Amino acid sequence: GPMSLGLWLFCLSLLLSGQHLSTSCQLSCMSQSQEHLGGFCIDLLKELASILGFSYEIHLVPDGKYGFQDDKGQWNGMIKELMEHRADLAVAPLTITFMREKAIDFSKPFLNTGISILYRRPNSTNSGFFSFLNPMTPDIWVYILSCLRTFSGSCYRFSPYEWYDAHPCNPGSDVVENNFTLLNSFWFGVGSLMQQGSELMPKALSTRIIGGIWWFFTLIIISSYTANLAAFLTVERMDSPVDSADDLAKQTKIEYGVVKDGATMSFFKKSRVSTFEKMWAFMSSRQSTSFVKSIEDGIQRVLKSDYALLMESTTIEYVTRRNCNLTQVGGIIDSKGYGIGTPKGSPYRDKITIAILSILEDGRLHMLKEKWWSGSNCLEDERYETGPMGIQNLGGIFIVLASGLVLSVFVAIGEFIYKMRKNAEREQVRLIGN
Ligand code: GLU
Repeated sequence: GPMSLGLWLFCLSLLLSGQHLSTSCQLSCMSQSQEHLGGFCIDLLKELASILGFSYEIHLVPDGKYGFQDDKGQWNGMIKELMEHRADLAVAPLTITFMREKAIDFSKPFLNTGISILYRRPNSTNSGFFSFLNPMTPDIWVYILSCLRTFSGSCYRFSPYEWYDAHPCNPGSDVVENNFTLLNSFWFGVGSLMQQGSELMPKALSTRIIGGIWWFFTLIIISSYTANLAAFLTVERMDSPVDSADDLAKQTKIEYGVVKDGATMSFFKKSRVSTFEKMWAFMSSRQSTSFVKSIEDGIQRVLKSDYALLMESTTIEYVTRRNCNLTQVGGIIDSKGYGIGTPKGSPYRDKITIAILSILEDGRLHMLKEKWWSGSNCLEDERYETGPMGIQNLGGIFIVLASGLVLSVFVAIGEFIYKMRKNAEREQVRLIGN
């Protein structure tokens, strides 16, 4: 369709001031007939043709490549088409590089770009039944539970002064009671942790100190939980396994690569930066799987497997606006431009440069760029607003409620049986006594 990426990657052949010229083009996916081509580069070519008054004929580049110089010095792709004069212009997102500039001529750049990473949009982390546990990490939950245990234990242990007269109306009786049994201490701890309180109140100084500190602890824990919960439930967090080229270089689980025989590939091959050298070593060691034939193939791989594609930011932006499952990861690691290629010494180069500068300055190029790059249905990266909360967010709390209910039914049955036994025993004692 007209929106597919392939459309703006074309090279052409043209007729400049009556002469017949030919050009070559990268790309696969569409019909060879000119009328069906469309995209940024085609619009740019039309614009240039109308300014300079030439007619043209478009050919796709036979090998579908941009252009790479092998170790023997042989070029392929569009660069080769230009060098062998099979094309007069290469109109494509053709990167101006040092090596290419030596083999062909480039017009002034019409777009600026730089290498970045295309990756799947990470799944949001807070859908899930138990998302209400997310505001705190699992270790914090474990710490809270163990604090509760320790707290109850110490309440129980510190309680010698909690003994009081069981029969206040009958002072001096030997019967004393302590409310802070182990279970009661636990109940006191849970009650304050849940901000509900319990009817137990410590009376001794030692237990009051522990109680006060515990209340302070719960105050802070509950406020942090509440504050974080609101943030978690309204904004989905994106949790990406990689954030930069450095992250990619440090791991081998996520495979990454480049488009074969393009400028990005030669960038990594030539780079002397240790991170990029390391990445090149990884990519070239698994050539058959790391390299993709075209940008289109690369996108399919990113979508279907755990693969990150290193490619140029302009193209990434183009792709991510059309497919919300894709996103750019990290910044731009170099800076370069796209130019229109011509054979060395071509008389058209200067004319093309002048036409490009004129549409650049009067804003027509900007309008063209807007036409193909603006508008996106994708929501902003990190601040993915959630809709109303559904069962998928809060289901877990119902499960907790139901299991609490079931547990209490079992305990009630246990209590009932216990009580019956006790009663039966007492009955027996009475019968024997009689
Ligand atoms: N624009 C690149 C080139 O001219 C192709 C894409 C890439 O290598 O990422 O070779």
